[in-house]
Formats: sequence, C-alpha cells, structure tokens
Amino acid sequence: MNVILKGILKHNKELVYKRRLIDDIDKITKHQVKAQTVCISCMDCRVLPSKFVNTEVGQIYFLRNAGNIVPHFDDFKEGRISSEGAGLELGCVTNQVKNVVVLGHSDCRAAQALFEIRHSCNHEQYIHTSPMKTWVALHGAKTIEQFCNIYNDKDIPEDTYFMKQPMNFTVNLNGKDIQTILDPCNKFNIKDKFSMLHCLQQASHVQTYPMLKPFLDAGDFQIHALWYDVYTGDVYMFSTSQNKFIEVNEKNIDIMNTDIAPLRI
Ligand SMILES: [Zn+2]
Repeated sequence: MNVILKGILKHNKELVYKRRLIDDIDKITKHQVKAQTVCISCMDCRVLPSKFVNTEVGQIYFLRNAGNIVPHFDDFKEGRISSEGAGLELGCVTNQVKNVVVLGHSDCRAAQALFEIRHSCNHEQYIHTSPMKTWVALHGAKTIEQFCNIYNDKDIPEDTYFMKQPMNFTVNLNGKDIQTILDPCNKFNIKDKFSMLHCLQQASHVQTYPMLKPFLDAGDFQIHALWYDVYTGDVYMFSTSQNKFIEVNEKNIDIMNTDIAPLRI
C-alpha cells in the first residue's frame, strides 16, 4: 500500500500532469469521445498493456483477470455470470466499442496452473482449496481440449516438449475457422506455446455472447489476440492472413493493417 500512497502523493505534486489528465477526462465526457477497444488481459503485474500500447485516457477499457480468461457464454446457462461478460456488454453494447483484444503473455502463471492440471481438470475438485485452479479449470477446459487434440502427452516428460514441432490446430475467430500454426520457428517452450493457444482459445469465446452477434453479422466488429513476451518486451499479434502470431513491428505493420481492414480501429 505504501507504493500506492507514495504514487498518489507524486501524482498530486505533478500539478501540470494532473491538470492535463483532468482536462482530457473532461473533454472525453463533454464530447462523448468513444473508446475504441476492450482489452482483456492477464492481471500479471509484469504486464501493463497501457505502457506498451502507449494509449491515452479514454481509449481502452481494460478488463484484467488471472489468465486472460473470457468465459464461454455456455458456462452461464445456469444463471451465473462473470465480470468479463458484464465488461463486454459495458464496452461493446453500452459504449459501442467495435474492437476486442485478448492479451496473453509468456511465463503466465495462471496459464501454467492450467497446464499443470491438464490431466485432471475437473474444476469441482479445486473448489475448496484453490480459487485460481477452479477458475482456470472451469473456463480453460476448451484450451485443454485443444491441447490434448494436439498432444496425447500423459507419459511424455515435460522437457521433451521444447523439441517438438510447432502446434497446428483450428481456431474460430470472428466467425471463421482458421487453420493455425503456433510458434512456427519453435522459439518458445511448451508452456508459452500453451499460453498462446490459450490466448487464442479465449479470444474465440468472445463471439459466443449473443449480444455481440448482431455486430459480428454486420461485419463491423473484430476480435483480436495479442501476446506479450515479458522477457523481450516484444508484442505479437495473431494474423488472420498469416494464420500465426507475428511480431508487431515496422516490417509487419502492412500485413497487420490489411488484417484489420476494413475496421482499422
Ligand atoms: Zn498471466
């Protein structure tokens, strides 16, 4: 808490910055400036999307949780709901945001927790001992299903994974099935590959919310997956034309601009 209090004192002292921030918020409120993106990311303290995306106040709605989870809408048929569903409605329906980004990252401890329990992922067994395992097991079941379709790995030691081939699987994004290759250069270890797969799988859950279907059908709504490498600071975007994550850089920016056309937001 000391860090937070010190930070607020510093914020109070930087009067020019504080005044500019209030002015920006005031402009956004008065002119009803719309945010452009809802970003669902992991809560990991090393991942601060507003730092590497370089956004200003009013541009992005951030939703953060353990493991950048987007619960599949089918998980709520019994009348439960999650803050992610409410956040998607607040951003995309109430405030008409047309762009949703799910952001995963390397060395994700929540994704690793899901990876560790992949052979025993009935969430009920963790209810009394681990809210995080319950959470990832409940909403990460489809990640596990995808992973197990690729690897039948019960008896294979973990360290052999690094040497394996890149992962091929199919993900449905924006209503289209995409044949996907994960980590084609075999650069990342198996847990990070798993985290990429998990990020894409969670991104595919966004479209399961019926409230978003009219926007998707109208073609003016897009779902994206980004993945941040905490060791290098590099950010990767899933390219729907390249069928893989590619690094966001000057060399690839034309590919990305084509991928996000016609929305370009
Ligand atoms: Zn994480």
